[in-house]
Parts: sequence; structure tokens; C-alpha cells
Amino acid sequence: MKKKLNLECVKEGLANGVAPGFPLDSTAKNAMIYEAAEHYGKFLDALGCDWKNDPNSDNTPMRVAKAYVNDLWAGRYTEMSPITSFPSDGYDGIVIERNIPLTSMCSHHHQTIGGVVHIGYISSEKGSVIGLSKLNRVVEHFGRRGSIQEQLTSAIHNAVTQICEDNMGVIITIVATHNCVSCRGVKHKGAAMVTTKASGVFRHNGNGARQEFFDSLKINNGGHQI
Ligand SMILES: [Zn+2]
Repeated sequence: MKKKLNLECVKEGLANGVAPGFPLDSTAKNAMIYEAAEHYGKFLDALGCDWKNDPNSDNTPMRVAKAYVNDLWAGRYTEMSPITSFPSDGYDGIVIERNIPLTSMCSHHHQTIGGVVHIGYISSEKGSVIGLSKLNRVVEHFGRRGSIQEQLTSAIHNAVTQICEDNMGVIITIVATHNCVSCRGVKHKGAAMVTTKASGVFRHNGNGARQEFFDSLKINNGGHQI
């Protein structure tokens, strides 16, 4: 990597930002898991759950704490593996990766968010392209936190923009369902939220780049059309 990238857009400590001391080593993660488990046990106490004497729940506080640190909020504690970009070698066409699986968690209600992320960009002749699976890693890194879909879209857009230096444009679309909508409150299943952030050539309808991106999402797209 030629230069240090500044991929974090929000203040440290917020649910959609990294934790203080990021990246945490295994000792710090274990200490966090034990402390969080202790407090989650008290949370269950307050809910009138005799979890200590319930064979199904006696280890639940530890399970929940581990799930947050190692999976659901892993992007707040664990560094993303290095992202390598390569010279575009004259390729200045559109690059799209669609249907990248997204698992995240709503910052408001701590219910999961599930869906897909579609990423498109156009390098310049002397710009750079990014290894395909690295786009998935970017989605994992920012998705595995507390999040707001609008800000998550911006965070992924910012990361791809910085990694693909000198690009002509980047577009990110997220299609996701929120369990806080389907399981609580209004309790509507199947309502999907669609967010798009675009820059460069994708912001303008006249050049066809934006249309090419959305048209490509409709081709054999496994039911994830937008
Ligand atoms: Zn919510």
C-alpha cells in the first residue's frame, strides 16, 4: 500500500466506530468478553430470568459477549487484513461486484440487519483496481458493527474510493431488511431498505455509467433485484 488510508469516518467509541485501543489483542478481547458477560447476566436478572438455574441459559451471557466481540461487532475490534490494489493497466471499464452478503446490526435496537451490497467503480487508465474478495472484506469490516444503513453505505463508499486511487467514480447500493422493523415495533416482514451513494461518473445520468450499474444488477441476479 503506497499511502496510509484513513478509512474510519466516525468517532472512536461509537457503535459504528472502532473501540478505544483498536485493534484489540486477544488478552484485551478476553477481558472485554468477561466483563460484558458479567453485565449481560445482570441484564437478564433485571428481566426476571433465572438464567443461572436454566440449563439452556446458564452460559448465555458468555455466549452473547463472545458473539458481539468475535462476530457481530468484530469490525470494531479486529483490524481488516491489508487491502492491496493493483495498477489498472489501461482498463477503464466498469467493475461491479454484486450480491456481497451483508450481516450487520442496527445501532438503535441491536437487532440484526441482513441483505446484500452491490459495489461498482471505474478506474482510470492510470488508476488502480482492487482484488475482488477485498471488496467483501471491506463490507465485513464496516458491516460487523452497530450501524445505520445510510452511514454504512457512506463508510463502504469512502473505503473503496480511497483504496481505488484516482478512480473515475464509485457507487454503492445496499438492499437490506432490518429485524427491528420485522420483529418489533410495526412488525412488517419483507420491507427492504435501499440506499445508494455515488460519486464521479455515477452521479450523472448523461454518461450511462449509473444506468450500466443498475442494469447489471438485474441480470441473473438471484432475486436480489432492486
Ligand atoms: Zn433499528
